[in-house]
This record gives sequence, C-alpha cells and structure tokens, in this order.
Amino acid sequence: MILIAAASEPELLIADEPTTALDVTVQAQILELVDRLKGEMGMSVLLITHDMGVVAERSSRIAVMYAGRIVESGPTASVLARPLHPYTEGLLDAVPRPGTRGTRLRTIEGSPPGLFTQTAPCAFAPRCRYRKPECDAARPPLREIEPGHEVACHFAPNLGLKGAS
Ligand code: SF4
Repeated sequence: MILIAAASEPELLIADEPTTALDVTVQAQILELVDRLKGEMGMSVLLITHDMGVVAERSSRIAVMYAGRIVESGPTASVLARPLHPYTEGLLDAVPRPGTRGTRLRTIEGSPPGLFTQTAPCAFAPRCRYRKPECDAARPPLREIEPGHEVACHFAPNLGLKGAS
C-alpha cells in the first residue's frame, strides 16, 4: 500500500497508523521503508499514530490532537521534553519508563467526547485536572508560547505541568 501511494511521487505521503497491530520487527521494516522513500523522493511524511515511541524516533514535528482539534504542536524534542498542554502531559505520563516498574501509571480520567457531542469551550475540560472556572468561558486559541511551539490552553505555560523528560 505504501509503495502504491508513493508510485505517483507525491510531495506529501499521509500514513495513517501504518504500524498498528504489527510486531516490532515488521514495524521497524515499514518505518525504514517510509524513511527510505522519503529520502529518495524528497517527500514529506505525515505520520498519524498513537505510538509515542514511533513519534519520538521518527518525527521532527508533532501535532497532538484532541476532539478533532490540534491542542499542541511543535518540534518533537521540545513537546516531548516540555509538554505544555494537560492532554499531552497525560499521554506522556501513560508511557511506561525505565525505573517505574511496580508503580502505577497515571491515566486520564473519563473518555473522549463522542463525535456528535456538544463539547465545552475547551473540549478537554471535563477530563482536565487543571480546569478553572475561566476555562468554561471561552475556547482557548492555539497560541505560540515559544518559537514554533503552540498550545491551545488558557493557562499554558503557567500550569506547572510536571511533564515528562
Ligand atoms: S483551558 Fe483549562 S480545561 Fe482546557 S486544557 Fe487548559 S487548563 Fe485544562
């Protein structure tokens, strides 16, 4: 499928969960193929995935989406080292790390809104542990907080997120 998509020599290849349900060996082969095609053809790749390891290894920029909207975007290293949106922080806290054996991973309470559910101005608010009354007054715009690093949260970067390193 990837080769068929690349046959027309696109400037942008959109790979939607290309490694889901694959074992790690095949996953590595697929990602190496995408990398090779990218280099040979000079195309950009938009990789859609839930795998934070793949994100950390393979991307130069990351956009975190919640309820159909980008809530944080920026250089991968910057977002992973210093997440500024509570949802990004929650995703990273749910990733097992060396040295955390025997400890409970933090989860994000609640569930994402349904496709046709009327959401709060900030769609993440019902699940956000930093929610304040102001969060329900207006939809948080995507703002540049530091060069190239944008966040849609009224209180970023002043929430004191512990984030992940
Ligand atoms: S705007 Fe408020 S509810 Fe939404 S992510 Fe930021 S702190 Fe949480």
